[in-house]
Amino acid sequence: MSYLPIQQLLKTAPVGTEVTVKGWVRTKRESKNAIFIALNDGSTINNIQVVAEAGQLTEETLKLITTGACLAVTGELVESQGAGQAVEVKISNVHIYGTADPDKYPLQPKRHSLEFLREIAHLRPRTNTFSAILRIRHALAFAVHKYFNDNGFYYLNTPIITASDAEGAGEMFRVTTLDAIKPPLTEEGKVDYAQDFFGRETNLTVSGQLEGELGALALGKIYTFGPTFRAENSNTTRHLAEFWMIEPEMAFFELEDNMNLAEDFVKTVIRYALQHCADDLAFLDNRLKEEEKTKKKEEQSELGLLEKLQFVISNEFVRLTYTEAIDILVNSKPAKKGQFQYEVSWGVDLQSEHERYLVEKHFRKPVILTNYPREIKAFYMKQDEDSSASPGPTVRAMDVLFPGIGEIIGGSQREDNLDKLVARMQEVGIDPETIWWYLDTRRFGSAPHAGFGLGFERLVLFVTGMGNIRDVIPFPRAPKTAEF
Ligand code: ATP
Ligand code: MN
Repeated sequence: MSYLPIQQLLKTAPVGTEVTVKGWVRTKRESKNAIFIALNDGSTINNIQVVAEAGQLTEETLKLITTGACLAVTGELVESQGAGQAVEVKISNVHIYGTADPDKYPLQPKRHSLEFLREIAHLRPRTNTFSAILRIRHALAFAVHKYFNDNGFYYLNTPIITASDAEGAGEMFRVTTLDAIKPPLTEEGKVDYAQDFFGRETNLTVSGQLEGELGALALGKIYTFGPTFRAENSNTTRHLAEFWMIEPEMAFFELEDNMNLAEDFVKTVIRYALQHCADDLAFLDNRLKEEEKTKKKEEQSELGLLEKLQFVISNEFVRLTYTEAIDILVNSKPAKKGQFQYEVSWGVDLQSEHERYLVEKHFRKPVILTNYPREIKAFYMKQDEDSSASPGPTVRAMDVLFPGIGEIIGGSQREDNLDKLVARMQEVGIDPETIWWYLDTRRFGSAPHAGFGLGFERLVLFVTGMGNIRDVIPFPRAPKTAEF
């Protein structure tokens, strides 16, 4: 039989046939009668064991078969004598593609810290943990496209280079071809972006939403799924400078429809991962259990990874208003004992400690918070007609909060009334002229519509049970981190 990835071989190759496997050596073990090599080719978390009889391979060959070396092995697939694997390959021929000097190769068959692995991000996909994460990441990305395709959404590619910071979502990375040392200046002595590549100031996008809305008001239901950039200097475990965002936007959807979609979407893609990544999730579940054992009893989480994922897909998310949430928080134990780092009262932007209290301590379920104060949300969110139940004006916003993470989704129904939208822009100091094209959607054939943004890495973080967002993207970009 010709070469098969190990994942396929383990599923389909019949015992007794000749197979060729190719991959990297994970471990080599010598007993009196035989030599056992565990090979992995990245197609699955499972290794294939290849076995040579003692004396079959020359000393010279054996010396080159070390952890990290790349081999092609041909031989008969047989039932395994030992425990731990059903089948193994009886070596008839070995070819060494590339060696890995054991004195220099940084990955050795022992547990490396995640911090150390971040320093060798170019090699960490060869570890069990990272290959599992990357395969799950792939499955989730595929599930995202599948979900939207199955539900009548069109994939809209919004620009990565933009001229607007209308969102005000944070600090942006400038895109320019001007000379950094001696840029052309205007008469007032400012940098003259009229002479720049695009003839104006441009940045990397912080969100595809505004263009997404243009798409929704033409195609009905669209989604974006692309790289997003934020130059916020936050060295947290939940923020990257470059991340992937999924932003569906739907004509004729109101806040309630938006929440229903968000909940169904997240559950569906998690279910997909559970169905298609069973081995990798079992591995990570186990890894997490080991890690939990090293923690103090009271810091250990009650649910394992698989239990947590099952729990999320089989329970309804709790829905409540921001105003109701503030009530809960103000009357909570940590607030009364002064244990929150940031104080809570109506009108403040919730910190992740507050979000996590609601999700992890109070409700013990994912939560969707709605109807936030107008002042802490973006200008384009639809203003509530009636805010009499709350101390101030609110907008039709919704944030989905997850255990261990806090905000995973932020969204809203959009203001579709031109006058209200323009008035709000003026209040917050955005010149309506700068996004005249966005306002045209409200001038011509305006319609109720809604959408949200899901940070893809936050989803991967949740599904893999990892603790740091830098460990769920192959090559993280964060402050002072852009080597690989
Ligand atoms: P946060 O308050 O957590 O910083 P945000 O409110 O600034 O997030 P939004 O502008 O609402 O974020 O973006 C939508 C989604 O994008 C968030 O819910 C989150 O999942 C994700 N996201 C935002 N900023 C980042 C980041 N720096 N790195 C990774 N994901 C992010
Ligand atoms: Mn948000």
